[in-house]
Amino acid sequence: MQGYKERALEELTTVEGLIKEISRGIYQQPELGNQEFKAVQLLVTGLEQHGFNITRELAGLPTAFKAEYPGKPGGPRIAFLAEYDALPELGHACGHNLIGAASFGAGLVVSRFLKEIPGSILVIGTPAEETNGAKVALIEAGVFEDIDIALMFHPGNCNAVEINSLAMEALEFVFQGQAAHAVACPQKEINALEALVLFFVGINALRRQLGTEAYIHGIISDGGITPNIIPERAAARFYIRARQQVQLEHIVAKVQACAQGVASLTGATVKWFNYEASYKEMVPNPTLATLFRDNLIALGVPNLTGLRGTQGSLDMGNVSQLVPSLHPYLMLRPGLVPHSREFTEAAGGTAGEKVLLLAVKALAWTALDLLFDPALVAKAWKELRRKLNIEEKFIYRGRTAQSCLK
Ligand SMILES: [Zn+2]
Repeated sequence: MQGYKERALEELTTVEGLIKEISRGIYQQPELGNQEFKAVQLLVTGLEQHGFNITRELAGLPTAFKAEYPGKPGGPRIAFLAEYDALPELGHACGHNLIGAASFGAGLVVSRFLKEIPGSILVIGTPAEETNGAKVALIEAGVFEDIDIALMFHPGNCNAVEINSLAMEALEFVFQGQAAHAVACPQKEINALEALVLFFVGINALRRQLGTEAYIHGIISDGGITPNIIPERAAARFYIRARQQVQLEHIVAKVQACAQGVASLTGATVKWFNYEASYKEMVPNPTLATLFRDNLIALGVPNLTGLRGTQGSLDMGNVSQLVPSLHPYLMLRPGLVPHSREFTEAAGGTAGEKVLLLAVKALAWTALDLLFDPALVAKAWKELRRKLNIEEKFIYRGRTAQSCLK
């Protein structure tokens, strides 16, 4: 083991109690997305006390923050991403208390090395992962433009270093008809709810054509007011998902054509809009995955799973298309179902604390590998560009996130 890794473990012993305390604090006061004020207070207070410069309300989001430990110029700028939102009624059934505390802990440990080596460490607080994924808004505000590497972990039911996530569009369709008395003058009516029901029938037919590559799930969010008024407005919310953004665009166009078809059939009008942020698919980065995998093995983790597909969608997917990113799963318990009461229990128990400390060590070691050998950062950028088919000459300093995507 390199000397810096041993030292990182020693540094960890001085802040281990605080890291566990932060995780417990977030766990015991679960807060929904964009309302995570207590979680942010815990994280920001701890980071400030350990020499980080804090920007609160990052990009105008009340519970987003940036904590930066300024290092010597010239080295990579590495960000640990913290999540801390909970689920309604279930509390921390996705274990985001562990994510927030792990990124906090890794940030603290690695910051202790920044007097010796060039580079900076940031902990970026990214709220509302379960709903309107704030990472998307943070990207739009340019928060990731000066970040070279984005690291985080997620607790789960296996140890998987490389994962896929689905591209997702969150669309609401609103049909507008014409209200009338349901019995007295039905000839005047244009029943928006009937149009919406036909739309669902059309979506079901479409789903059969799309096979297993697409997922379309919807609910009726407005089905009218009372049975004796023909509904003049009816609306439905959908999550439309596919393996990749390019397929997703094609599927979304079909869904929209279906809505238009139903509108012309019924005489209603239809409009649609994004009611939540759209997520892109995850682009796993082989350099970061290999470093993290080797570190897990060195830390004695058995049974590492290969590339793991998830049926979910993550706002980290958007980050992974801008900056080389790491989003591995570390196992709380085999067979555990995310967003269940069993998951909540595991995230707050001894299994949670064990995974938390493992995550801090592996994340900190991975960041230190990159800081001590910045050629690895360059390699990770080269891979990202190759995966996104970007042909421009490779540079990682002086680029912007936008220039990376063009
Ligand atoms: Zn989650």
